[in-house]
Order: sequence, then C-alpha cells, then structure tokens
Amino acid sequence: MVPMDFPPYPSGLRLGGRRVVVVGGGNVAQRRVPQLIAAGADVHVVSPEATPAIEGLVGSGEVTWHRRRFEDADLDGAWYVVAVTDDPAVNDRVSELAEQQRIFCVRSDDATRGTAWTPAVGRHAGVTVAVLGNRDPRRSAAVRDEVLAGLRDGRIAAPHHRDRTPGVTLVGGGPGDPELMSVAGRKALMEADVVVADRLAPRELLGELPADVELVDVAKLPRSRSAQQAEINRVIVERALAGKRVVRFKGGDNFVFGRGYEEVIACREAGVPVTVIPGLTSPVAVPAIAGIPVTHRGITHEFTVVSGHLPPGHPESLVDFDALGRLRGTVVLMMGVENSPEIAKALLVGGREAGTPVAIVCDGTMPTQRTVLATLSTLGETVATERVQPPAIIVIGEVVRVAFPDSFPDPFPDPGTPADG
Ligand code: SAH
Repeated sequence: MVPMDFPPYPSGLRLGGRRVVVVGGGNVAQRRVPQLIAAGADVHVVSPEATPAIEGLVGSGEVTWHRRRFEDADLDGAWYVVAVTDDPAVNDRVSELAEQQRIFCVRSDDATRGTAWTPAVGRHAGVTVAVLGNRDPRRSAAVRDEVLAGLRDGRIAAPHHRDRTPGVTLVGGGPGDPELMSVAGRKALMEADVVVADRLAPRELLGELPADVELVDVAKLPRSRSAQQAEINRVIVERALAGKRVVRFKGGDNFVFGRGYEEVIACREAGVPVTVIPGLTSPVAVPAIAGIPVTHRGITHEFTVVSGHLPPGHPESLVDFDALGRLRGTVVLMMGVENSPEIAKALLVGGREAGTPVAIVCDGTMPTQRTVLATLSTLGETVATERVQPPAIIVIGEVVRVAFPDSFPDPFPDPGTPADG
C-alpha cells in the first residue's frame, strides 16, 4: 500500500448517476447512504441485512439492495465504494479490490486503510461545508456546526454574494425567543435592505442587522391601526419598487392574526414579487413552551384558535361562542386578556363545565414568561388579581389538567372507593 501520512486532497465528487457501492447495511451505512442519494448517486447496498431506515430507502426506490454477502463483481463499474461491514476481512477484500481497480474506497473500521475519507458535511443556502478534522469525527462535526451556525446567523458573511433581488418577504419570527426562528427566516433578515418590524417580532435579532439596513419600527408609527396598516403597505411596496429587498418581520406567523395577506395583496397589486417564510405560531408554540400540549390522545381531537379581541355579541365579531361552548376540545384564546371575563361567561352559557381547567401563559418564551392557572369560572377574576397583561395565550380545556394534574381535582373520582370505610 501507498503511504497515507499525507493530508487528504479535498475534492467535490459529482456522483450524479454514477454507481456507488456501499458494502454493509448497518448504522454506519445508514448515515452515509442519504448523503450519497442527495448527491444523485446510483447507490447499491450489498448486505445480507439492512436497518429499517435503509429498507425504507429501498422501498421508495432510492437505493438498490443486493441482499447477500459481498461478491467481487459488485465493484464492476463502480466509481466509489464505502466499506462499512463489521467484518474486517470483508472490508479488507473490498478495499483490496478497489485499490486494484482504482476506485476510491472509504473504510469505517480503519480510516488509515481507506483511500478516501468522509468529511462532516452540512449545507447552507447552496454552500456545502465539508470538514476533515484529522480523523477526529467529533471535532469535524463541531467545526462544521460552528461554520454553519456562523453562516446562518450572519457571523460569517459573504456580503457581496447575498441575494439582492428586490421584493418583499414576509418573515414569521416565532413567539419571541430568537432561537425559535427558522433558518430561512434568519437568512432573509440578514439579506434585507429594509426591515419593517412589529413589537412582537424577536427584537434581539434587530441588533444584529448591518448598520446600513433601514429599520422601520411599526410600534413607532402613530395613528390608528387601519391607518398604520395602510402605511405599512405603502412603505413595503414603495421600497421594493425602489429596488430594495424588504422583510416584513412579525411575531409568530404572519398569516395568523397578522394581517399578512393584506400585505401580499398590496404587493401583488403593485406588481411587487412577494414570498412568505412561515413562523412558529404562538397558539401552538407558547403552550408547548409552558408544557401544555394542545392535543393529547384520548383527551381531545381538536383545538380551536380564537381571537378574543372583540367580546362575544359584538356586532363585528365573527366567532360563534355558543358553538365553542358545545365543543369539548381545546380552545386557544389569543388577544383575549381584556375580554376574558365575557368570553368565559359565553363558554359557560354555551355548555362548558365551570371547572374546565385554564392556563394563562404570559410573555411566552421571554425571560418574563409565567403561567397562571384558573378554571373557566374563575378566569375573569384571576386575570384581574394576577394583573395579567398582553401578550398572553389562554388555553382552555382538559389538556391543561394533563399538564398540571396536581393543580386540578380529578373530574371523575373513582366511584369504586367509598368515602369512608
Ligand atoms: N402572528 C402572531 C399572533 C399575533 S396576534 C402569531 O402567529 O403568533 C397577538 C397575540 O398573539 C397576542 O395578543 C397573544 O395572544 C399572542 N402572542 C404572540 N406572541 C406571544 C407570546 N410570546 N406569549 C404569549 N402570547 C403571545
């Protein structure tokens, strides 16, 4: 064998349509195969057994499985071979044949005896990051993760390569913690020329914006809500028509009580290209962060998200509170702090039990987050005595009991146990 103590020569193999043989069907193979598939390789797995994940890929036609032991002829026509059996003798045979046929060969059991090494790989926005950490896989993975994180959050930037096509992108920022924002959303934010941000958007991220980015703070636009929306529509359209990349940055998801679609329509009417990056929406994410599932097997088969910004019976209200009272599933009330006493009353009149458990989650995912418990009959009073302020998510239903069993008496006491014996 040729001495191998030189550093590896990095190269990006273009394996599209080319035969690649993976000898072995265990956990190492399972980790390698998806990346080979992603590269478009014609992947052949040779192994008497395969993990369920590999079998799944066989079932969907993404790899060919030769369900037997390795035979010399398996390497015929191969461009690349991965020897990952747990039998060193088989791996030896594979790498020996590969050497003769000048096929680069990776060996999992002893990398020094392979002719190729698998780097730790990640991709971000069309860039492939591959790290060979001196045969220390943990170090490779750690360096790769650090580089990817830097690319994602903008610490590593190639500013003149950023996407500069003008247009508007609606970006959902999630419930508040910047860690809960999508990778695509962060990237769009870092590439923006103009950012139009709401009060509930994860504001810490705005501090990371490059200095030349124009920041339009909607919270500082005076005037009524409808005038404010008209002004937002005007600003995003005007800046995009001036050739800027505009990000409309909101808390949660822009289409959940976020007036996002009005902005889509305004852009369309002005001929401005508009794209949407969804966000983690607070009626699902905030209960989750507070430890409350919005559904639970055997407890509820539905959850209903309701805006409480108008009280029941208000002429402009579009909510059928009677119907909500008749449902038994979870109700997630948004923008409902102020009207919670009336809403609780309407749900009781509609048929909900007075003891229905309620959780009020305030400032979800923020350092000031707190959860206040109540029942439907005490909700109004609790909101007042606990001085609950928006933003808050009010979760109504048996899922709250699932999350806090000790705080609510059992609604169905065991009838088999006499009160005193
Ligand atoms: N588009 C947002 C919702 C905007 S409406 C989304 O998809 O989440 C504003 C309401 O959302 C608030 O009144 C409150 O009910 C809820 N909300 C948003 N973020 C919240 C948070 N971090 N904690 C608690 N409630 C939140």
